[in-house]
Amino acid sequence: MLSMTLLFTTCLMFTGAGATTLSQDIATKNELESQLKALEEKRKQISAALTAARNDVAAAEKEVNLLYDEIGTYQEQVETLSTLVAEYSALAEAKEEEIDRLNEQMEKNYKLFKERLVFAQESGNMSYIDFLLGSTDLSDIISRSEVINDMLEYDRKIIQSLKEDREAIEKAKEEIDVALKTCKEKQEEYTAVLKILNQKRAELEARLKELKDNQAAQQAAYNRNQNSKKEIENRLDKVIQDIANKSQGSYSGDFIWPLPVHSPGWISQHFHSGHSGLDIAVGGWVNNGKIPALSIAAGTVVRVGSYWDWGNLVVVDHGGGYLSYYAHLDSISVSYGQKVSQGQQVGKIGSTGDSTGPHLHLVIYAPVGAGGASIRTDPMNYISYPR
Ligand SMILES: [Zn+2]
Repeated sequence: MLSMTLLFTTCLMFTGAGATTLSQDIATKNELESQLKALEEKRKQISAALTAARNDVAAAEKEVNLLYDEIGTYQEQVETLSTLVAEYSALAEAKEEEIDRLNEQMEKNYKLFKERLVFAQESGNMSYIDFLLGSTDLSDIISRSEVINDMLEYDRKIIQSLKEDREAIEKAKEEIDVALKTCKEKQEEYTAVLKILNQKRAELEARLKELKDNQAAQQAAYNRNQNSKKEIENRLDKVIQDIANKSQGSYSGDFIWPLPVHSPGWISQHFHSGHSGLDIAVGGWVNNGKIPALSIAAGTVVRVGSYWDWGNLVVVDHGGGYLSYYAHLDSISVSYGQKVSQGQQVGKIGSTGDSTGPHLHLVIYAPVGAGGASIRTDPMNYISYPR
C-alpha cells in the first residue's frame, strides 16, 4: 500500500504539469484571455448601468427630500392655522357670551323701564295722567312732564347704550367669524394639498425602493463579474506557468538589472519564504511613475493587466522556463503578445495594487524545481546590483 502511494506520487511528480500538452495549454490560455476580455467588456456595461442606477437613486432621493421639505412647510402652516382656528373660535365664543350678557342686561333694563312706566302711571295710587292733571298751572305741568321725560330719557339712554354696545360686539364678532371662516378654508385647502403631497411621497418612496433594488442588483452583478475575473486570473496564472514549464529551447540566463544604471534604486526587501520576489525601492513618492522598469532579458509579453494584489503587472516569458514578473507598475508600456528586447521598458515603477510606496516587485520563475519545473526563485541568483 505504501509503495503504491509512493509510486503514485512519483508518477505525479513526473507528469505533474505534463497532464496537458503545450498546445492544450496555449488553447486554454487563449480561451481564458478571451473570457477575461469578455468579462471586462461586461464589466464596462455593468459599471455604466451601476453608475446610471446610482444617479437615479441620488436624483430620486433629492426629489423625495424636496418633497419632505414641502410637506414640512405645509404641515407647519396647517398647525399654525389650526392654532388660529382655536383662538378665533375661543374669541367668537367670548363675544357670543358678551352678546348674551348684554341681551340679558337690555332685557333687565327694559323690564325696569316698563316697571318705571307703570310706576310713573301708578305711583301713590295716582295715575300718570292724574300726576299731570294735579299740576297747579301750565308751567307746573311742563315741569312735571319734564321730570317724567327725564326719567324715561335716562332709561332710554341706558337701553340705547346697551344696544350700541351689542351692535359693536356683534360687528366685532362678524369680523372674527370672517377670519375664522378664512382660516378654516385655508386649513382645509392645505390639508387637501398635504394629502396629495403625501400620496406623491408614497409613490416616490416606492419608486426609490425599486431604484435601490436595481442598484443593489447591478452591484451584485458587478461583484459576480469581479469574482469571475479573479477566478479566471488565477487559472491564467497557473496555465502561464504550465506553458513556461514546457517552453521549448533553453535560455542561457543572461539577465540584467531591471532599472537603468543611472538610477538603479536600492533593494528594500529580499526574496524569502514569505516574499515571492525582490523589492527595489526608487526613493519615495517623488519618483512615483518616473523610473522605468526594464525587461531583464528578451522575450514575449504573456500577461498585462491590473490585478488586485499585483497592481499593474507585466509578465515576460524568456523561454526555457524563465518568466519575469514586474508588479505594482504605475503605467504599462507594452502590450500583450509583444516581443521585447533585453533592457526594453515594460512600464514605469509605481505603487499600484497591494503596495505602500513606489517600488518594483520583481519575480523570477526559473526551471529549477523538481523535474525541471519552473518555480519562483531568488532573483539575486540571476541578476546583480549594478556597480
Ligand atoms: Zn514585494
